[in-house]
Amino acid sequence: MHTLAAEGLRKRYGDLSALDGFDLHIPSGVIHGLLGPNGAGKTTAVKALATLIDLDAGSATVAGFDVRTQAAQVRRRIGLIGQNAAVDEVLGGRQNLVMFGRLYGLGKSGARARADELLEIFGLAGAADRAVSTYSGGMRRRLDIAAGLILTPAVLFLDEPTTGLDPRARNEVWAAVRETAARGTTVLLTTQYLDEADQLASEISVMNHGRIIANGTPEALKRQIGGDRVTVTVGLRDDLHDVAHQLSAALGEDGVTDDDTRTVTFELAGVTALAGVVRALDELAVTPEDLLLRRPTLDEVFLTLTEKEPAR
Ligand code: ATP
Repeated sequence: MHTLAAEGLRKRYGDLSALDGFDLHIPSGVIHGLLGPNGAGKTTAVKALATLIDLDAGSATVAGFDVRTQAAQVRRRIGLIGQNAAVDEVLGGRQNLVMFGRLYGLGKSGARARADELLEIFGLAGAADRAVSTYSGGMRRRLDIAAGLILTPAVLFLDEPTTGLDPRARNEVWAAVRETAARGTTVLLTTQYLDEADQLASEISVMNHGRIIANGTPEALKRQIGGDRVTVTVGLRDDLHDVAHQLSAALGEDGVTDDDTRTVTFELAGVTALAGVVRALDELAVTPEDLLLRRPTLDEVFLTLTEKEPAR
């Protein structure tokens, strides 16, 4: 069964269709990445699934309850963590979590027990009684996530959880997100960082103009937009354009050159096409400084998919 299922969601703001036939199906306990350029409709989709806005058409269930007719049941089963932290700076981490527990209707001892459990899970037990204002960015984000998990929601909506964090703090938050899913909560992650989706999500949906335009595992999406890439780095910048020209003739396509890094990159029709690259370099008598064979990045997938669609 899907923990989250949406079909044909539509939402208009005046002339603009923020959601225009949005479909999404997510099984339980996974991390699903929702990607899209600015204005694609990600926030609108999350708000609709979290029962914060009314839909014009379509149907959706979260944890088996209808978002349009059973909003109260849905709300009891979701956590929503936006960009702006809801935690209190002056209070300590434990006090914050106890306060959230009480707000969510837990008794005093229940709220304390849940706070201690979450502090332990997210590695904050040692800082539990320090004011949040003294926390690092990563600790604060982990506390935000803990606050969203007080009632062990079936679905956690997580909006750009690592914006503005340094790489170490980002890793800490990623570990917290993975831990959340491992404990059975389905995570819908919206992010602009494609490497974040690549690291965390088992499945990714790419959204544009209010609908999903591609869906699959990160690997499947990379395969979908074409084969491996080969990047040739030359030692001398003067050789770059000759090499690009020769390779382009050998492979029958134009490459992407970058003067700054002295590289030219081609999409390969198959790994055997690599032989053609080596032959062409040999004919030119140019020894490359580096020759790198790699899969497309999720950035390349994203650009290819969203650029195919005209902007609105
Ligand atoms: P971002 O990555 O920039 O947050 P997004 O994918 O989350 O973008 P949405 O915020 O869902 O996109 O917006 C989708 C479209 O709907 C945008 O064109 C936006 O301007 C418009 N929109 C969203 N909310 C409203 C509103 N309350 N009134 C009018 N237009 C809105």
